[in-house]
Parts: sequence; C-alpha cells; structure tokens
Amino acid sequence: MIYYDEAQEIIENEFKNIILETEEVSLLESRNRVLAEDIISDIDQPAFDNSAMDGIAIKYNPDITQWKLIGEIAAGNYKEYEIDENTCVRIMTGGKIPPSADTVVPLEDFIEKKSKVVKIPCAKIKLGQNCRYQGESMAVDQVAIAKNSVIQPGNIALIAGCGRDKFQVYKKLKIGVLATGDELTEVNVMPTEGKIRATNMYALLSEIENMNHTPVSYGFLGDDKKILSDKIEEIINSDIDILLTSGGVSVGKYDYLKSILEEKGLDTKFWRVYIKPGKPLLFGIIVRNGKKKYIFGLPGNPVSSYVTFLIFVKANIERLFSRSESEVVTAELITDLKKRDSKRHFSVGILSYDSENEKYIVEKSGTNSSGNMLSLSDANCLMLIDEETKNPKTGDKIKCIRI
Ligand code: AMP
Ligand code: MG
Repeated sequence: MIYYDEAQEIIENEFKNIILETEEVSLLESRNRVLAEDIISDIDQPAFDNSAMDGIAIKYNPDITQWKLIGEIAAGNYKEYEIDENTCVRIMTGGKIPPSADTVVPLEDFIEKKSKVVKIPCAKIKLGQNCRYQGESMAVDQVAIAKNSVIQPGNIALIAGCGRDKFQVYKKLKIGVLATGDELTEVNVMPTEGKIRATNMYALLSEIENMNHTPVSYGFLGDDKKILSDKIEEIINSDIDILLTSGGVSVGKYDYLKSILEEKGLDTKFWRVYIKPGKPLLFGIIVRNGKKKYIFGLPGNPVSSYVTFLIFVKANIERLFSRSESEVVTAELITDLKKRDSKRHFSVGILSYDSENEKYIVEKSGTNSSGNMLSLSDANCLMLIDEETKNPKTGDKIKCIRI
C-alpha cells in the first residue's frame, strides 16, 4: 500500500516517457485537438492598410472640410488613386487604403453634394482615424498559436488566416475499458437476485470521449480466469495505449485480474493506495510488440472507479497533453464530515458560490458509500481531505476539485 502522492508520482514519471504520435488534420477536424506544431503566419495580418469603416479616404488637413470625390475602392476591388488634400475616394470597410490617403472619414460624418463631399459641422476628424495598418494584428513569421495549445473554435479563423488548412496535432490515445464481475448484467434487463447492472464502463467511456480520446469498449465479463485471460490477451495485443479494467482487483476470492495481468508480464508499479474511495487501485505496464500498454485496474464500486479514473487516469492524461487540469477551489464546509482514518479522501461534494458572503461553500453529496451513484450524479466536486485531517467541521476550509 502506498500514499496518494507516491502513486501520483509513479504514474506521472511513467507517462513522461510516452512520446506522443502526431497526425495531420484539416481545419474542421481540429476542434479540441492539441497542436503538435507552432502555427506561424505566412503573411502580415492585415496584409495591407485598409479601412475599418465605410466612408471616404482623405489626406488629412485640419483646415479642409470638403473634398472632391474622384473614385471608389470596394473591399477586394482595389484601384490606385492619387489623392491630394482637396480630393477623396469612396472606400468600403476592408478596402485597401491608397498610399496617398492617411485617414478615413465615416459615412455619418459627411454629406454628399453632387461630386463633392462636405464634412458635417460637428464631426471631428483625427489623423489616421479608421485605418487598420498592415501587420498591426500580427507580423509575417510570427507564432500565431503555439504548439501544445488546445484548439478551440475561436482559434480556427486565425489558423485559417495563417494559410494552414492542414496541420499536425497529437494523435488521440486509444483507451480500452473492460468491466469484470460475475454480478454484472446488461443495463437493459431487470437484474435478478444478486445481480447488478454494469454501469461503470459507461461513465468511463463517456469521460474518455469527453477528453477527446478514443474509447474502446470491451463490455463486461464474469469472474472466470480463462475467459478473462483470453480477453486480456486479445486486448493487449491490439493497438490500444491504455487499458482500464473495473472490478476484480481487490482481495476477494474471485479478484483474479492482478494475477492474470502478472501472468501476462505486468510490471506492477503499485497496487492499493491509501485513499478513499479507491483503495484497491492497480497500476502497471505490459510490453507487447515493443509497445508499452498502461494498465489501470480500477476498483468495481461505481464511485471508486470514477474517482480513481478522474484523479489518476484523467489528470495524468490531461497533463501529458498539456491541457489545463481540473480547477481547484477553496471552499468553506457547511456540513461536518466524518473521517477517522489516515487516508486521503476524495469525497463527492456539492460546491456553490455564496454571493452574499462572497465565498465558496461546499457540502457532502448524499452518503459516503462508494456504491452510491446518486451521490456521484449530484456531485460537482471532489472534496480533498488530506491524510492528517480528521473529521473536518462546519466552517473549515477545504480544497475542492471541480468535476
Ligand atoms: P470489486 O472491485 O470487483 O470487488 O467490486 C466491488 C463492487 O462494485 C461489486 O460488489 C459491485 O457491487 C460493484 N461493481 C463492480 N463492477 C461494477 C460495474 N461494472 N458497474 C457497477 N458496479 C460494479
Ligand atoms: Mg468483482
């Protein structure tokens, strides 16, 4: 049995050795992917001086209030005009400003009289107004979006503007999920005596999908050594990167997984962690066809499997992909909590902001049972209670990890 910090460090150190593969995606495939290269602008942005308004382009002179209209420049339809202080050209938003002009007077600041334009008396004109200058947003060769950034829809126009319709991102991880237990039944049947619906894998598969990796469902199997062994052999010979199992890693008579995995060469990095929920957690590596397969044996209880997934599996994968980790908020307890042992607890909680007193408050969600899916479903955080803390009381400040 090891402490949380040691377990976390072991996984982090193992994950540091992973060299992420890359692949090319197109703009519309890139949302939520992580950039594996810097996106560099191949042009100045904007590429030329242009007008920010519909109006007229003039050569600024504070004493002149009317101009002769000599032409028109629409966006995308540039024509060179040579203007002086007494002449102007009509210009549309985005239209290229001719080199002889330096200022744009917007439509609402003048009236037109035949081929003349007259400034309205109250309008104030400043040199350079409404001009967007070449390279003002970004210069050619500037890094627009750095490697390791997570691509959001808001970034995509910029990538497109840099001339990149295809670029490199890190490949998604393939993460397999296998549930085990003789008690498990399909979700769409009424469980008979002593049976329960196999629920864990759906939470895990959804989380993997949410993290934008590729979930691979292996369904569930009973506690049968031979069947389990054959299935695991098949899984580890496939192209998955990580395997999550649920159930069967505790110390019960039919908890076979650890021995099966070890027969297949599992290098057990740790088994059993001093935490609650999730004590039976197993982590190790099997090498197959020259490739490391990272194996997490998650406990069977629904809250335990979900919480250990969040704090150990998800947290480390997000770190590997340079994604921001779950937000941690310090909140004031509004209920007493029972905690007599010296484990680190990650208890499901309900976090909210008390705007009247300008502070976060938190209470436990439902019961402390690691089998209570309602408590988990209602929760929006994990209350982190460290090893030394005993029975935190109402008013105590505790750290909450948003989930
Ligand atoms: P185990 O870790 O195999 O000892 O399982 C602990 C408990 O978790 C079992 O007694 C079941 O009640 C529950 N459990 C195991 N696997 C699942 C699953 N896939 N979905 C929901 N509950 C499960
Ligand atoms: Mg079991």
